[in-house]
Amino acid sequence: MAKKQFKAESRRLLDLMINSIYTNQEIFLREIISNASDALDKRYYLSLTEGSEKISRDTLKITIERHADTRQLVIEDNGVGMTEEELENNLGTIARSGSAEFREQLEKANDNTDIIGQFGVGFYSAFMVARRILVETRSVKDNTAHSWTSSGEDGYVISEIDKPEVGTRITLDLKDDTDDIHYSDYLEEYKIRDLIRKYSDYVRYPIEMSVTKHIPDPTDENKTIDTEEVETLNSMIPLWKKKKSDIKEEEYNEFYKSKFNDWEDPQKVIHYNVEGNISYTALLYIPSRTPYNFYSSDYRQGIQLYSHNVFIMDNVKDLVPDYYRFVQGVIDCDDLSLNISREILQQNRQVQLLSRSIEKKIHSTLEDMLKNDRENYEKFFENFAWDLKFGVYNNYGANKEKLQDFLLFKSSKEGKYVTLKEYVERMGKDQKAIYYAVGKSVEEIERKPVMEKLREKDIEVLYFLDERDEFVTGMINTYAEKQFQSISAGNLDLESDDEKKNREEKAEANKDMLEAIKTDLGDKVSEVRISSRLSDNDPVCISAAEGVSLEMEKYLANDPLSNGRGPKASKILEINANHPIFAKLQSVYSENPDLLKDYADVLFNQAMLIQGLPIEDPAAYARKIAELLVKA
Ligand code: ADP
Repeated sequence: MAKKQFKAESRRLLDLMINSIYTNQEIFLREIISNASDALDKRYYLSLTEGSEKISRDTLKITIERHADTRQLVIEDNGVGMTEEELENNLGTIARSGSAEFREQLEKANDNTDIIGQFGVGFYSAFMVARRILVETRSVKDNTAHSWTSSGEDGYVISEIDKPEVGTRITLDLKDDTDDIHYSDYLEEYKIRDLIRKYSDYVRYPIEMSVTKHIPDPTDENKTIDTEEVETLNSMIPLWKKKKSDIKEEEYNEFYKSKFNDWEDPQKVIHYNVEGNISYTALLYIPSRTPYNFYSSDYRQGIQLYSHNVFIMDNVKDLVPDYYRFVQGVIDCDDLSLNISREILQQNRQVQLLSRSIEKKIHSTLEDMLKNDRENYEKFFENFAWDLKFGVYNNYGANKEKLQDFLLFKSSKEGKYVTLKEYVERMGKDQKAIYYAVGKSVEEIERKPVMEKLREKDIEVLYFLDERDEFVTGMINTYAEKQFQSISAGNLDLESDDEKKNREEKAEANKDMLEAIKTDLGDKVSEVRISSRLSDNDPVCISAAEGVSLEMEKYLANDPLSNGRGPKASKILEINANHPIFAKLQSVYSENPDLLKDYADVLFNQAMLIQGLPIEDPAAYARKIAELLVKA
């Protein structure tokens, strides 16, 4: 049989495995056993469907053999097996979805060990300990059996073989020992025992191995005789069915990592049991980081569904709402029928009860974290904020009441995160609105002229550092009967009665001048007014009238589809009547009205720049400033 080459991206990965000194190389066994367990699940599940061979669950198992003489470790299962085509597709290339992403990460990474953990590289991880791998397999769908063998770099060979039983037998020829790494440890009984207990205890099929037992010698009570005996190494109790008090944190974490291909411990474990209208056990996890492909179409939700201890399906979407799609885990529900299909999940009444109950639990867990474990909650929020925000925004805000209290914003008070509830609870009695500022960074926002005034008045401002925040709060509309008020739009309502009266009088007295400036600026602005939002040192600013905000204008302008023709905010030029520039404008207007247009232009452009908005003709602006400097 001709030797075939691995696909390019697989080759790089193989190379990495072969030369790996990954400290966690022992995970190879977990990966192989987990594949075997999946294959057993599939075979059993198939047997439940009509027209298939009937199979008793008790006959399904995994066997481990150790051969010290040939340095071989064998892992065998009687699961579904693979056809020739499946061998080719599954082992000739990286089986994982998202392999494009994977390749990208692989190219970028300089620390290879991280990649190994990050992607849970499955079958190939065996090349960390084996110099050659032989896979002998026969599929339930096929009468002929095949072998696949490879020593890594130089490709693989698939041949027809004789194998009477359905299933897969994997033989690892262990690498030679070095001073640092004793691959032969994997032939030791204690080592395999440890690894199975650590990583695969919960596997719901027996993992059998022949072990040495020392039994008393009937002829001499001071002696023992060694006999070989087959032992089941795993407890086979699914982790979620064990009592919480019997489970160590490490067990929860290892289970998560092996099942959901993460290399970091989860952020939160949610393990509970419900009896009632619908009865089920759930073991759910919140990851401690955003999965690498979370925002690509490759991401698949990680809820696995079991019933009567039998695996039904994975990547179930309908059990948690979209905004909690980061939750991974296992749901075991005996109230579901074993032959429920993906298609009917959505309409199934039991499934609806189930998903409502799961959502409630996730909700109360997050509430509890927010209340009692703030640090952890903030980390969670940083990872999955966008999902919560999307949940608020999506469906015309149908779920906003449920989710709005989970949102966190940095604020001007302590530079820390604050919830809307906390904000409202500590705001001054007379404060009518929830103030917010949009910007790319805390520093950028704190430089805004308007912030000065708010600091003077000791008003807390929420920092919207995610440019989508404004859309989200737009959807919330009012919180605790308070409107959201951008510091760069509308009336901030910061003045005392005296200040207000004073401003209105000045506006009346300078009406003609303000109108003249408006005329000079044409349709760049909708209004020119005396500002109530600037403190003494700042001459001008731009604010927005109702409707599209200045930040939305910026955001929408970046949308490639808008072609620069996105909706624009209706801009108001605000002038500080307490700044010396105002007196200057008055004198220019009365003594040298032709110059007023230059002043108007310069001030407008300045205000645009402060706001971070582009100005139309920077060269003309610079010329005008220079001219004015010369005249001064
Ligand atoms: P993953 O398990 O994440 O898909 P692997 O590289 O570990 O990735 O395995 C690739 C594929 O090979 C599996 O998805 C499965 O289809 C097949 N496979 C591996 N081991 C077995 C086995 N023991 N029996 C049947 N199929 C297997």
